[in-house]
Amino acid sequence: MPFNIFNAPVKVLQDELFCSKNLTVDVVRLDMIHPIVSGNKLFKLHYFLQEALQSSHKTIITFGGAYSNHLVATAFACQAYGLKSIGVVRGEMPEQLSATLQHCTNYGMQLKFISRVDYAKKENAYFLNDLITEFGQAIIIPEGGYHPTGAKGAALIGELIKENNYSHICTASGTTTTTAGLLLAANANQTIISVPVLKGMTDTEERLDFLCGNNYKKEQLGIFNNYHFGGYAKKTPELIAFMNYLWQQHQLPTDFVYTAKLFFAIYDQIKNDNFSPGSNILCLHTGGLQGNNSLPAGTLLF
Ligand SMILES: *Cc1c(COP(=O)(O)O)cnc(C)c1O
Repeated sequence: MPFNIFNAPVKVLQDELFCSKNLTVDVVRLDMIHPIVSGNKLFKLHYFLQEALQSSHKTIITFGGAYSNHLVATAFACQAYGLKSIGVVRGEMPEQLSATLQHCTNYGMQLKFISRVDYAKKENAYFLNDLITEFGQAIIIPEGGYHPTGAKGAALIGELIKENNYSHICTASGTTTTTAGLLLAANANQTIISVPVLKGMTDTEERLDFLCGNNYKKEQLGIFNNYHFGGYAKKTPELIAFMNYLWQQHQLPTDFVYTAKLFFAIYDQIKNDNFSPGSNILCLHTGGLQGNNSLPAGTLLF
């Protein structure tokens, strides 16, 4: 294997708050699989990569914006496996590529920029056919790996924590595909908690129906909806201060788009006694740390 998605340690967080509430919080460090590529993205890609490797065309086409962690992960994984990758990017080609898109190019991804209007058609069969005509036969991965195949890959995260007695497993959510994978892999008495990082995200259950079909139990899902800090990639001084606290207290680096919001939510819910004593909580550190590069120098202590 060119990279190992199962190489992610579990760390215990020692915090007076957790002692005082008589519960534990562990973190599975998917961010340590690779310094740039978000760990959960590599899980979501797993079965798509297998499909592409078994195909004769050995090509993957996928979609994302200029700051998409999914595009970087796809570019990286395709290069590692000797696959061709094409990234369809939302918006006109900028004068200067974002750091994210530069990483994609460095990993050998061919970029195609399309207008926002065209991008909105990216699930349309005619549009996809045109892409195949342009680039040849390929495996097409929806934006963010949002597909049952992506959820099945995310379910492999369960392999990292096989003999666990976690009562709750928690993740930040964008497309909800990672949450879906956790639900597919969950033991009977576990609760999977989703912390949406988008504002007004009310369709989690519809998404899970698409991603998991009947293979999950709605009763096992918990959603903490009010931790988006104004919306996707929005932040407040309170969130930044909390990130610096996590670093000083636990040497835990987080990103402001996803994982900081997850940990803030879990701390807040623990403070408010919304986890019962005796809970053993696991949080996914999904990665995304490269996103912090867009913050002004000196904002973070790490
Ligand atoms: C993409 C991403 C998520 C969200 O995953 P979904 O499966 O889309 O819900 C969470 N954390 C990080 C760091 C990500 O890059």
